[in-house]
Amino acid sequence: MYYSSGNYEAFARPVKPEGVEHKSAYLVGTGLAALSAACFLVRDAQMPGEHIHFFEKDPIPGGACDGFKYDGVGYVMRGGREMDNHFECMWDLFRSIPSIETEGESVLDEYYWLNKKDPNYSLCRATKNRGQDAHTENKFGLSDEGQQEIMKLFFTPDEDLGDKKITDFFDEKVFDTNFWMYWRTMFAFNNEQSALEMKLYLKRFIHHVGGLPDFTALRFTRYNQYESMILPMVKYLKDHGVQFHYNTKVMNVQFDISGNKKQAKRIDLLAEGKEDHIDLTENDYVFVTNGSNVENSTIGGQNKACAFNKEIQPGGSWDLWRKIAAQDSSFGHPDKFCSDPEKCNWMGVTVNTLDQKIIPYIKNITHRDPLSGKVVTGGIVTVEDSSWLLSWTINRQPQFRSQPKDQCLVWVYGLFTDRPGDYIKKQMRDCTGKEICEEWLYHLGVPTDQIEDMAANSANTVPTMMPFVSSYFMPRSAGDRPKVVPNGSVNFAFLGQFAETPRDTVFTTEYSIRTGMEAVYTLMNVDRGVPEVWGSTYDIRDLLDATVKLRDGKPVSQMKLGFKQKIAFKEGLKKIEGTDIEKLLKEYHVI
Ligand SMILES: Cc1cc2nc3c(=O)[nH]c(=O)nc-3n(C[C@H](O)[C@H](O)[C@H](O)COP(=O)(O)OP(=O)(O)OC[C@H]3O[C@@H](n4cnc5c(N)ncnc54)[C@H](O)[C@@H]3O)c2cc1C
Repeated sequence: MYYSSGNYEAFARPVKPEGVEHKSAYLVGTGLAALSAACFLVRDAQMPGEHIHFFEKDPIPGGACDGFKYDGVGYVMRGGREMDNHFECMWDLFRSIPSIETEGESVLDEYYWLNKKDPNYSLCRATKNRGQDAHTENKFGLSDEGQQEIMKLFFTPDEDLGDKKITDFFDEKVFDTNFWMYWRTMFAFNNEQSALEMKLYLKRFIHHVGGLPDFTALRFTRYNQYESMILPMVKYLKDHGVQFHYNTKVMNVQFDISGNKKQAKRIDLLAEGKEDHIDLTENDYVFVTNGSNVENSTIGGQNKACAFNKEIQPGGSWDLWRKIAAQDSSFGHPDKFCSDPEKCNWMGVTVNTLDQKIIPYIKNITHRDPLSGKVVTGGIVTVEDSSWLLSWTINRQPQFRSQPKDQCLVWVYGLFTDRPGDYIKKQMRDCTGKEICEEWLYHLGVPTDQIEDMAANSANTVPTMMPFVSSYFMPRSAGDRPKVVPNGSVNFAFLGQFAETPRDTVFTTEYSIRTGMEAVYTLMNVDRGVPEVWGSTYDIRDLLDATVKLRDGKPVSQMKLGFKQKIAFKEGLKKIEGTDIEKLLKEYHVI
């Protein structure tokens, strides 16, 4: 496997790897990582579809990428996916997956045209004082000292960031700014989480710094991601004969390890409650999604709070990874990520408006009609002064094909589930859907004497609790995540957010798809480049632009400098006078 960039390899079709027709693949999970691995097996490795088998513990595919209407409960979206134009592996794949909406279009066409015609941007990024615009005015509000804290992290080598927390680098000079409010609510970081992940994000998305305050950086799918991404992939795979085995738990994968040779030799299954196993040869390949941020997630209801289920059970992804990790030191350390759900849980909530009473309060904040079918909030609206740190978003409606045209689905999420609310004086995690809706309506500015009635009769609200949702960001160091293809592996790979691939960032759809592509290209010897992670962090233009944007447009020449630094700066300017460097610095308003 090798990386490439540019369009020479992007359009190349790899030759069929030798002997692939004698090989089979067994994939654990049907999340984005495993589905994309199978798509790459079919498209690029040209493995016969009938040789590819999924084992999925749940009755439906998709893993974290959900969107489902549960009978008697209502519509549920545990999350919504903010995405990027530089998800290179994702668009490499989705150009080949036919849309299930429009004949002749690919999923990429559908997404591209949608976001071209109706670009995403926000008209109100945050509110306070019960529905008033917080007027962040697209500013980051960072002092020179705050910027230096960010720069210090940006330039610290990865090796020095093992097990470090964000609080080891930032203090109130960053935490008390709009920058941090934008950042932690958009990406769901908490202050105690991984400094390494924070740094990788800064580098990975440096080209988007200017688009952070108003979300011009973002793009969204037409419907929820289950309908817009998972279903087209499943159809593509089924059309190629790929086999899906639902309600099938992989209890263990056993390995033969001798010297540096590691071979998966047996899969233990619990299929529809019955024990079974598969013996594996060198021609049987296993792709394991190790760890999942939606494991143990629970659904409440309009009048039901969610259970907060912290216990790890056999047949789930953490238990499986633990059993695998026990067999070799290169298979990672799952407990780094799954041992403390208090540090990585949050809740996603779906509010389904049933009549028109809540709509004016939404319009008042978003300055858009939520039922127009076009961009509404354009990313999240954060309630700055909410104890639960609520944010909410309304993507283009309808979010589900089956959704009635006059109803609106709102995704609300709260980062602090263990604190009492401002109107509902209970921890978020103990609240029913109706109570969470009341808290949200309070922050929308609905008069207090109408809140209860509206939450009861004008909406159906379904909360979900995800105990491990930001486990991706738990502090970690080298070796805690196994390599996608561990050294010495003969016939297996790890997939998803807890498999290690250089430079890309977790909590993204792209990361899962990238691991799928790298796993297949490595194990099947697909002779075509895997697209490199977008290289903006090596592009001086992006670096200069981000520097000035982080300073809210103020040139670097206006930084407070000591006497000696001022002299050095002036001398430096003289040296570049009349050169392309001076031109570039002026073009990006650095000087
Ligand atoms: C609330 C939320 C918001 C998000 N927001 C964004 C966003 O804004 N932008 C973005 O790019 N990404 C976002 N993501 C991340 C992205 O959706 C996920 O990282 C990605 O979908 C994970 O896919 P995966 O295949 O790696 O893992 P998963 O989807 O977790 O898949 C694991 C699969 O394995 C199955 N499984 C586990 N154990 C077993 C077993 N023992 N036997 C059989 N099957 C098993 C599970 O049931 C599941 O189907 C978000 C995710 C969530 C949950």
